[in-house]
Amino acid sequence: MTGNRDVTMTTMPRLLTGHNAPLTLSEYESTFPVIARAGSLLGELDASGLTGRGGAGFPTAQKVRLLKAHRGHHKIVVVNAMEGEPASRKDVSLLRVNPHLVLDGAEVLASLIGANEIIVCIARENERLAGHVRDALAERVRQRRRTVRSSVQTPPGRYVAGEETALVHWLSNRETLPQYRAKRPHVARVRDRAVLVDNAETCAHVGLIARAGAESFRSLGTDASPGTALVSISGALDRSQVLEIALGTPLRQILAVAGADPDPQALLLGGYGGSWLDATHLDTPYANEALAPVGATTGAGVIVVLAREGCAVAETERVVRWMANESARQCGPCAFGLPSLAEDLTLLRRGANDAAHALERLTSRCGVIEGRGACHHPDGVVRFVRSALGVFRDDVADHASGRPCIGSGSARHYATVPRLDHEGELTWQ
Ligand code: SF4
Repeated sequence: MTGNRDVTMTTMPRLLTGHNAPLTLSEYESTFPVIARAGSLLGELDASGLTGRGGAGFPTAQKVRLLKAHRGHHKIVVVNAMEGEPASRKDVSLLRVNPHLVLDGAEVLASLIGANEIIVCIARENERLAGHVRDALAERVRQRRRTVRSSVQTPPGRYVAGEETALVHWLSNRETLPQYRAKRPHVARVRDRAVLVDNAETCAHVGLIARAGAESFRSLGTDASPGTALVSISGALDRSQVLEIALGTPLRQILAVAGADPDPQALLLGGYGGSWLDATHLDTPYANEALAPVGATTGAGVIVVLAREGCAVAETERVVRWMANESARQCGPCAFGLPSLAEDLTLLRRGANDAAHALERLTSRCGVIEGRGACHHPDGVVRFVRSALGVFRDDVADHASGRPCIGSGSARHYATVPRLDHEGELTWQ
């Protein structure tokens, strides 16, 4: 990593405000004053180096340029606040306390690409949050601050529903099916209208850059990963929480601020399609350029802390089973491959007679599944399983030779990783 600036936790009012109730429009405007800019909005966005905070990490200015150059009228900006990742609450938390920053960012994006509509997508199960955002939109209309037609839509809150092509497909046809392995960058469409889809946190950063400029944005973070990021941290700590951190902050420092177990077995980084990271890497800065060499990414901004007494195999099994149940099962790798991975992990967790064969099958199944789905959902599961087999290789070998760790007969007993319950509610410990 090069050129760290201030990589401590930010105490400036950036995305999160420290309030529990949503900021009214006037509170928001006094908390986030507009500072005169030197250059154009797009120039500031370019200079900021902002990348998408939804998981893919694509440069935001590049996406904007693509849509700006696209001919055709009636473009749409879609704010993706679906947050189908069970271990993530950052977009929900952000919209709850600071809806106007997200909406301002979406309006900036709309003006840059020439869009005449904004749609905020929130999971149907989160009707309360949808209500908050509708209230914020109504406030902007009352105060004559809305610049384009804006609405809230509520697709079903499944994991794959937040995937960009699935979201766009739902807006067109009311079906939450991912469509194809889109090559980036590409122009998505709702019926015949070009669409810019950006994650809610990304929109908030755009709003902030429009108000305070690129230089202010880059005053925290690293050269390669400027700015702050929201992190949902859960697992071995008293209270699952969302933190705003300067990118480049060492993982150990993030754990300390969150009050997490300072001596964990491992961290799950990125989300359910992310990867495990061995605790020997706790001094690694939280930034993609530093995490990539140790096999991890910031992904969807998720950190799950696995305690030393936790059973890594049981946790991995539970995540994979959940992911298998979440797929649309329209492709072979999801319909057959993911449930088979989950079954093999169950045999391995139990240390059953054929656990050694289950381990061999796991390895070969990963090779068969990878790259064969219409979307990247199965690839994420494969990446996650492979990271478990590597990071916990000693544990895995014990399980495979019929010596499961104490208590791992019950996956529930050591449940660490947050999940959605049967009614779609987030379960945080
Ligand atoms: S790979 Fe899986 S999640 Fe993706 S489209 Fe196919 S069935 Fe659906």
